[in-house]
Amino acid sequence: MRDKSAMQRTDVMIAGGGVTGLTLALLLKRALGGTLRVTLCDPMIKAAPTDDDRAFALAADGRKLFDRLGIWPIIEEACQPITEMVITDSRLDDPVRAVFLTFGGEVEPGESFAHMVPQGLLIEKLLFAADQAGVQLISDRVKRFKADGSSVAVMLAGGDEMKAGLLVGSDGGQSAIRELAGISFYQWSYKQAGIVMTIGHERPHGGQAEEHFLPAGPFARLPLTGNRSSLVWTEAQDRVDSLLDRSDAALIEQIERRAGLKLGVLSLLSRPRAYPLNFGIARRFIGERLALVGDAAHMVHPIAGQGLNIGLRDVAVLAERIIEAAGLGLDIGTVTVLDAYEKARRFDAVLFGAVTDGLNRLFSNDHLTVRLARDLGLGIVDRMGPLKKRMIRRAAGIETATPGRMRCL
Ligand SMILES: Cc1cc2nc3c(=O)[nH]c(=O)nc-3n(C[C@H](O)[C@H](O)[C@H](O)COP(=O)(O)OP(=O)(O)OC[C@H]3O[C@@H](n4cnc5c(N)ncnc54)[C@H](O)[C@@H]3O)c2cc1C
Repeated sequence: MRDKSAMQRTDVMIAGGGVTGLTLALLLKRALGGTLRVTLCDPMIKAAPTDDDRAFALAADGRKLFDRLGIWPIIEEACQPITEMVITDSRLDDPVRAVFLTFGGEVEPGESFAHMVPQGLLIEKLLFAADQAGVQLISDRVKRFKADGSSVAVMLAGGDEMKAGLLVGSDGGQSAIRELAGISFYQWSYKQAGIVMTIGHERPHGGQAEEHFLPAGPFARLPLTGNRSSLVWTEAQDRVDSLLDRSDAALIEQIERRAGLKLGVLSLLSRPRAYPLNFGIARRFIGERLALVGDAAHMVHPIAGQGLNIGLRDVAVLAERIIEAAGLGLDIGTVTVLDAYEKARRFDAVLFGAVTDGLNRLFSNDHLTVRLARDLGLGIVDRMGPLKKRMIRRAAGIETATPGRMRCL
C-alpha cells in the first residue's frame, strides 16, 4: 500500500451501501455533522437502477428509526401496514388451509407491527439523504485493507486508498470484508430458495398477510399498496429452475394452489427471482478497527421476515457507541467501543438466527407426529393472549433485551 501520509483521510469508512450501510452513514452524519467524516463506498452507487422490485417487512422499531431520520414521511405513501397476520399449516393438496394462528397488526395504538417497504425506493431516498448530509459517496468496492494500532488503510478496486479510524463491513452475506479480516463464518445451506415476485389481484387484501406452512417450506403473501402483494415462496432448491421456467399462466396456477382463490383473479406483475437461502453467523462481529453489521455479520432464513430488521438493530447500536465515543473526544475505533457493540448485539442476533432456523426445521417437513405437535403448539399460542402479544412485540422490536437501541438520535 501507498505511503499513509499521502492517503485521503476519513473517520468512518463504510463498505457496502445496502440499507444497513446507508442507514449507519446517515445516523452518524445527522448526529455528528461536520465533526465526523463518513465515507461510504459501494460499486452499486452509480450503477443503473435494476428492475429488482423486492419489498421487505420493516418492523415497528425500524419504522420509528426512519421516522426520526426524516425518511419515513417521504416513503410512507408507498408502504403498506400489515393489519393482520394469518398462519396456516397444511399439505399442498389439502382442500383447505386450516388456520392455526392469527394476530392483529398493532403493537401500540396506531403502530403496526410491520410495514411492507419497497427496498429500491428506501435505498434511493437514503442515498439522497446521505449525500445531502455530507457523506462522501464513492462508487467502488473495497479490495483490501490493513489495520495498525491507530488507523486502517483501505484500498479500493479502482486504485484509490484511504486511511480511516474505523472500517465497517456492511457488504452483505458474501462479505469480502469479513473474509479479508480472517473472521470465520459458520454457515449452512437450507437447500431451499426464496422465490420472490409481485402479484396483482382482483380483490383488496385489507392489509392482511398470510404465511402458509407447506412441506417444501413457507409460502408468504405480504400486502403491498393497492391490489398488489409480494410473494416469498420457499421451495426446495432442486425444484426452483423448473418453476422459474414456467409461463405466467402456469405460475399463477401454482400460486392459486398455494394461496387459494379468495383474492380473485391473479396476475404476475414481475417475473420471479430466486434467492438461495443460507444460515450464517460470523465468529466475531468485530476485528482490529473493524465492525461487521447486517448480513455480513449474520444471515437468517426469511421465514419470519427478520434479516434486515436485525441488521438495523446492529446499526443503531454501533451508531450509538460511535456517537458516544466521538462526543467524549475518544478514538472511535478502539477495542472498548467495538467490544461494547459486539456484546450488545451478539446475543440478539444469535437468538433470532436460532429461532428462525428452528421454525424452518419445524415447519418445512411433512412428518405426521411433528405436524401434530406443531399444530398443537400454534393452537395453544393462539389462545394465550399475553404470550402471543409478547412474541409479536419482540418480533416488532418493541420488547427487547438490548438497552438504548434505536435511541441514538
Ligand atoms: C427471499 C428473501 C426475503 C427477505 N425478506 C425480508 C423481510 O421481509 N424483512 C427483513 O427484515 N429481511 C428480509 N430479508 C433479508 C434482507 O434482504 C437482508 O437481511 C438485507 O438485505 C441485508 O442488508 P445488508 O445491507 O446487510 O446487505 P445487502 O443488502 O446485501 O447490501 C450489501 C451491499 O454491499 C455492496 N458490496 C459488496 N461487496 C462490497 C465491497 N467489497 N465493497 C463495497 N461494497 C460492497 C453490495 O453492492 C451491496 O449493495 C429477506 C431475504 C431474502 C433472501
